[in-house]
Amino acid sequence: MSTTLFDLSGRVALVTGSSRGLGRAMAEGLGAAGAQLLINGTDAARVEAAVAELRAAGYRADAAAFDITDEAAILRAFEGFDRRGLAIDILINNAGIQLRKPMLELSTPEWQKVLDTNLTSAFVIGREAARRMVTRGRGKIVNIGSLTSGLARATIAPYTVAKGGIKLLTQAMAAEWAAQGVQANAIGPGYMLTDMNQALIDNPSFDAWVKSRTPSRRWGRPEELVGAVVFLSSSASDYVNGQIIYIDGGMTAVL
Ligand code: NDP
Repeated sequence: MSTTLFDLSGRVALVTGSSRGLGRAMAEGLGAAGAQLLINGTDAARVEAAVAELRAAGYRADAAAFDITDEAAILRAFEGFDRRGLAIDILINNAGIQLRKPMLELSTPEWQKVLDTNLTSAFVIGREAARRMVTRGRGKIVNIGSLTSGLARATIAPYTVAKGGIKLLTQAMAAEWAAQGVQANAIGPGYMLTDMNQALIDNPSFDAWVKSRTPSRRWGRPEELVGAVVFLSSSASDYVNGQIIYIDGGMTAVL
């Protein structure tokens, strides 16, 4: 097997929500495989801090702070990449939010905010990236889904709907762009140790439930997504289109 199969040298990767959490870990993994990184989040200071740490670790990284729910900001960011000659070879649509509330108490703006952040953003940023990828005849898009891309859970209805949408958006992207050399795939992480889950990690009964429900008997570590994201961003996955890979310690494999 060629050692260049997973090599990302010379590729530019935009990872949304990479100032911390899963996005940060995936960015680091892509950097280790050779990619030049564009680091995103809404908090510019946090993005700059992540860029400084990644550079100190030897990676090529630049800041790209913008709100993924602000279409004008997305268009400005892509115009900026074009001006700087930065062609996005790899897009990881990762940034997302959670909102835990029973549906009977959920307002329409709350519902909309989760859908805008976790689903519509992936379409808008994906469209802008793919317009340029299709012209070049090459590109990789990895959308971050969830266990809830295929299963529901009480009190997180808009998140579940958005992540289910991510799975089918990925298939729609593959249907439209695969012939032009653009591969779109998804990763569905299980319960991972990040800020988003801090309240659940600190809740002994939830922690016990995750461990008993997961065949691996533990939470996932952010860096455990790296193998799949490098695979899906590299030539190794050139004939893989519209798939979702669950990285969940086996949770979706069992009842
Ligand atoms: P974190 O809350 O730890 O980090 C979220 C990241 O997204 C931060 O960098 C944050 O930056 C950024 N972000 C949030 N909103 C926006 C926005 N509007 N515009 C730009 N950036 C934004 O989340 P995780 O790392 O845990 O989750 C990352 C993704 O993985 C999400 O899509 C999540 O749904 C998904 N996921 C997570 C799982 C888990 O167990 N943790 C399991 C399955 C899926 P800032 O706050 O500065 O804006």
